[in-house]
Amino acid sequence: MKGWQPLKISIIGTGYVGLVTGACLAEIGHHVTCVDIDEQKVGMMQAGHSPIYEAGLEALMQKNMEAEKLSFTTDSRGGFQHADVIYIAVGTPQNPDGTTDLTAVEVAAELIAQHVVKDVIVVTKSTLPVGTNAWVKEQIRLNLRRDVTVEVVHNPEFLREGSAVYDTFNGDRIVIGAESREAALIIEKINEPFDVPVFMTDINNAEMIKYASNAFLATKISFINEIANICEKIGADVGEVSYGMGLDKRIGSHFLQAGIGYGGSCFPKDTSALVHLAGGVEHDFELLKSVIRVNNHQQATLVDKAKQRFGSLAGKRIAILGLAYKPNTDDMREAASLTVIERLVEEKAAVIAYDPHAIEKAKPILPRSIAYGGSLQEALTEADAAFILTEWDEIKRFPLSDVESLMNSPILFDGRNCFQLEEIRKHNIEYHSVGRPSIK
Ligand code: NAD
Repeated sequence: MKGWQPLKISIIGTGYVGLVTGACLAEIGHHVTCVDIDEQKVGMMQAGHSPIYEAGLEALMQKNMEAEKLSFTTDSRGGFQHADVIYIAVGTPQNPDGTTDLTAVEVAAELIAQHVVKDVIVVTKSTLPVGTNAWVKEQIRLNLRRDVTVEVVHNPEFLREGSAVYDTFNGDRIVIGAESREAALIIEKINEPFDVPVFMTDINNAEMIKYASNAFLATKISFINEIANICEKIGADVGEVSYGMGLDKRIGSHFLQAGIGYGGSCFPKDTSALVHLAGGVEHDFELLKSVIRVNNHQQATLVDKAKQRFGSLAGKRIAILGLAYKPNTDDMREAASLTVIERLVEEKAAVIAYDPHAIEKAKPILPRSIAYGGSLQEALTEADAAFILTEWDEIKRFPLSDVESLMNSPILFDGRNCFQLEEIRKHNIEYHSVGRPSIK
């Protein structure tokens, strides 16, 4: 790493992306100040606690805080004053009409403009629709208080929640989109110790790479889910089908597992934003619209199966196993459990939910009428049916003999195909999964 030097980096927005980025940049040697408006979150982080559940993150935070390379503040003025580089990692959620809400990005740009006192590179990590980085640069330029130069570089984030720290050190690529080659080279240098391949391009391309990547992965998921739905009707097993498909390197086995569809803070909003972006240039993105429709439908299929099985779900005690949108995270945004539980409550089922890490985040957004189990055992006890919605290891490893003995009637609706059919056949369990024959 010839000529490598640590820089003073500030990060605005300390959520799943900002906090992981901050801790990892500190770990490779930079001096990082994380700025967030959420006082409670900042208080927690100052005390060395991570507000999100993410493997290895808290230890990394504590180590780098002790080494005085990582700090947290709500004070953007102090946070930005000495920065060589400022990362924007605030949220870009979905507006009700499906477009992207850029309010937090606009506020971040204004704060940067107000408080920077020397030339700085602003790196946008947030997912931003094509054209937004030019707008960010303009927002900063319009509000700049001092005679300083600000360059904007887009560095979209590809980490996966649940393995975010690992992904930062082992990513497939770092995409750097910039107008200024000099600024791009500085950002490349910052990231050098990660030893991840860098792809440099212009800003528009970088913006599009992020959306196109997420849309493609979402397409793979909806594709295999449609294959699963056909498999159910013709008596085939989608597990076998996707395995056989994935052996072809052109197809690949990733993102080819059938289930109750994708959720989370990225795929739903990013696919919707891309449809809108296309619409804005008079392109009807029919394929992606279908991907979204298929996903919305897929989330409802398990409840439909249960209704078919029981006739009425009223008064049935139903255990929900897994609430987070995927395992190893506590993120509840757009989790399938939200849709499934809402439907079950509408059907007047008595719901008892369990998740190893997401219950605290789930409680404020789930119906008040549902109960929570302190353990898998508690949730399953006396249940008339159980829905598996998140494939946590704890759920996959739970002894099926206990499922059999704890439940009132051992009937599983497995939205994540956690078990091999042969395994289930060894037990007295009724089993309905996705794209595979039911076992009765
Ligand atoms: P998040 O909601 O977890 O975090 C956003 C943070 O920004 C919050 O802590 C919030 O308090 C803070 N914030 C908002 N306005 C602020 C302001 N004016 N000043 C300071 N802090 C402010 O969001 P996230 O999941 O980390 O996502 C951030 C961006 O990264 C989004 O654009 C998202 O699409 C993108 N992204 C997310 C992931 C992911 O897996 N979560 C992956 C890739 C890209």
